[in-house]
Amino acid sequence: MRQRSRHTKITFTLGPASAKPEVIDQILLMGGDVCRLNMAHADHDTVRRNVGMIREASKRTGREVAIMMDIKGPEIRTAARKEALDLKIGDTLDMGVDPNCKEEEGIALAVVNYPLLVRDVPHGGLVLVDNGLIQLRVVEKRADRLRCRVEQPGKLGPTRRHVNLPGVKVELPALTEKDLADVAVGVEVGIDFIALSFCREAADVEALRDVLNKHGSKAGIISKIEDQSAIANLDGIIKASDALMVARGDLGIEVPYETLPLIQKRAVETCIRYHKPVIVATHMLESMIENPVPTRAEVTDVANAVFEQTDSVMLSGETAQGKHPLKCLEVMTKISEKVESTRPTGLNSDVIIEEPKHKMMKAAAQLALDVGNSAIIAFTRNGAKLRLLASLRPNGVPLFAFTDDIQLARQLRLVWGVEPMVMKFSVDPEQNVQEAIRQLRVNGWVHRNDNLVIATNVIVGDRIVDSLQLRQVQ
Ligand code: PGA
Ligand code: MN
Repeated sequence: MRQRSRHTKITFTLGPASAKPEVIDQILLMGGDVCRLNMAHADHDTVRRNVGMIREASKRTGREVAIMMDIKGPEIRTAARKEALDLKIGDTLDMGVDPNCKEEEGIALAVVNYPLLVRDVPHGGLVLVDNGLIQLRVVEKRADRLRCRVEQPGKLGPTRRHVNLPGVKVELPALTEKDLADVAVGVEVGIDFIALSFCREAADVEALRDVLNKHGSKAGIISKIEDQSAIANLDGIIKASDALMVARGDLGIEVPYETLPLIQKRAVETCIRYHKPVIVATHMLESMIENPVPTRAEVTDVANAVFEQTDSVMLSGETAQGKHPLKCLEVMTKISEKVESTRPTGLNSDVIIEEPKHKMMKAAAQLALDVGNSAIIAFTRNGAKLRLLASLRPNGVPLFAFTDDIQLARQLRLVWGVEPMVMKFSVDPEQNVQEAIRQLRVNGWVHRNDNLVIATNVIVGDRIVDSLQLRQVQ
C-alpha cells in the first residue's frame, strides 16, 4: 500500500503570492486540497481568472481540487476616510451610524456601516476595530453616534476597517447584495463550496441554500462560526451545513479568547459526531508570512488541530500574500504526518450512526483495521458513505472514493483521509470493482497483496444487494 502522505487535508487561500500557474502547480503537487478565494479582496474578474487558473493547473498536474468561495456576510466596517487617525489611550472618538454624520464638538468621528449600532451596543459596551487591536468603550449614547473612550490605542487606517461588537446579536441580513452578486459569479464559474462568513444560525444556512437551489448549483455550504450567536446555535448550524469552519480570527475577538480552545475542540467533536467535515482556520502559521520557519507555538497549534482530528487545517495570509507559500504546505504536511503516525488505531465511538447502510460502513472500517495493510474502496453518488467512514477516523486506512460526478470528487477532497477518483460507472458492479482496482494499481496507490475492503453492490438474480467484500490485490 502506498502510504497516503496524510489524512488531514490542507485548505489554502489564493492571493498575489500564489495566484500564478507555477505556484499553483506546486501547491497541488504538494497536496493542497481546497483552494479558498477570499471575497474580501477579490473582484469578479479576479475570480474568473483564478478559477480558470486552478482548473488548468488540475489538468496539468492530474489533481482535481475543490474551490471555496469565501463570501463576507454581515461584516461591520468603518467607512473609508481621508487619512489615518492616531488614537491615543483616553482619547474620545465618535462612532457615527449615518454616512452624513458630521464631527461635533471637535471630537474625531468614524462612520460605521451598521445603522443599529446605537440601539444595540449598551452604555459601557465594547467596540473593537481592526481585529481587536483598537479597543473602544462606550461612554455616551447619542441619537446618531456612540461616544467612545479609547482603551487600547492604535492607528485607525484610512481604508475600511473591520469592526467587532462582542456579544451583540447583529441585525444584518445573512447575505448582503455583494454576497448575492459574488455567489452568482461563483455559480457561473463552477465553484465547489461557498463559505458563509458570520453564520449565526441554521436559518442563515438555509437562506444561502435557497439561493444556490435557485441557481441550480450543488455547491456545498461551509458555515463559518465567528461570533457568540454561532456558538449558541452550533448544533443546528452543523446539521444544516455541509461543513464547518472554525474561523478563529473573528471568533477569538467575539468571545473571551481563553474560551477559544474549548470552542474549537467542541466544534471539531460535534462535526465528527454528525459526519460533517470541519476546518480549523486562521493564524495557523501566521509568522511564516514573513519567516521561512514556524514558531514553536504554531507547530503545536497545527499539531493540536490534528490531535483533535480536524478534517482540514487552513492557510490564509500565509499562502495569499506570504513570502513562503510552498514552505507552509511542507510544514503542515510534516506536522500532520508526524502526529497521525502516533495516533492509536481505533474507531471513534461517538459518531451518530442510524442507517443500516452506515452501520455496514462501520463494519468495513473495523474490518480494514483488523486485517491490516488495507484500504477501503467505496462507490458513491452523494458522498454520504465516505463522510461516515471518515468520521470514524480509521487511522492508516486510505479511503478511496469512486464517483462519476467530478464536482463531488472535488468536494470530497475536504474530507479526512478520502482520496477521490472519477470513474464512469458501468451497470455491472463487478466491472466497476475491476476498473477501480485497475486505476489504483496503475497510479501506484495499491500493490500486489494489499488488502481491499470494498463496499459495492452485487446483482443476485434480479435484485441489487449491498455487499462488503474482502479482496487481495493480484
Ligand atoms: P476571514 O475569516 O479571514 O474571512 O475573516 C476567518 C476568520 O475570521 O478566522
Ligand atoms: Mn472572519
